[in-house]
Amino acid sequence: MLGGSAIKARVSMMSGRDSRIVIERCRGGKACPSVAASGTRLIRDLTALSERLAGYSGISGEEERVPHRKFTLSLSLCPNGCSQPQIADIGIISAVVVRADPDACTGCGACITACRERAISLDERFLPVIDGRCLQCGDCLRACPSNALLPGSTGFRILLGGKLGRHPQLGKELPGLFSEEDVVEIVSRGYSLFSEYQRWIRLGDVINRQGLAWLPERFLIDKGRQT
Ligand code: SF4
Ligand code: SF4
Ligand code: SF4
Repeated sequence: MLGGSAIKARVSMMSGRDSRIVIERCRGGKACPSVAASGTRLIRDLTALSERLAGYSGISGEEERVPHRKFTLSLSLCPNGCSQPQIADIGIISAVVVRADPDACTGCGACITACRERAISLDERFLPVIDGRCLQCGDCLRACPSNALLPGSTGFRILLGGKLGRHPQLGKELPGLFSEEDVVEIVSRGYSLFSEYQRWIRLGDVINRQGLAWLPERFLIDKGRQT
């Protein structure tokens, strides 16, 4: 079985003043059949953002010398989560919204077999219906022999405040599917919060203090901009 370090890649670890920004991504790409949506542009944009943030700090003096103080981003290109986005300060998961073409569907049921979430059923007309258990992985559209399932919008799911350490916790998901621009904005807000708080505080600790109800208020961008 592959270990975590074998299936994720560290994209950048800024040196010097902002050595606390770490970006990791899974090794999905052309070689992995599970990719839901490409993350190439997002990784480029996040790397550029981390470089811009390198000159910004709300932390000074003693805080600068804390070597393990870090802000982690983790991108997985499908919900299998090989880069462990669930335990990053901000976890990002590629997603594809699947839509059905009723004219092309033969009612064969291959999509039902392919869906590990049991999210697909056939209605009375033998057309696929996808319910709320869907993780937007795209397995069903790859399994359909008739091209009756098509990729609709693509984007990214966002998990906030995951961490290990003394009190481990999984990131909390922001509702919605977000574009590259939105993810960059959310990361920028998350880093700003991280920098506001002193000492060993991780983003997850901030969220725990403020409560879940506060998450959309602080992180949700204009609904109209969501994918
Ligand atoms: S997270 Fe998904 S796309 Fe990335 S390496 Fe794992 S299986 Fe492949
Ligand atoms: S996208 Fe994935 S989880 Fe959603 S219905 Fe298709 S196979 Fe199931
Ligand atoms: S696999 Fe394709 S053709 Fe078969 S039931 Fe599902 S959507 Fe229809």
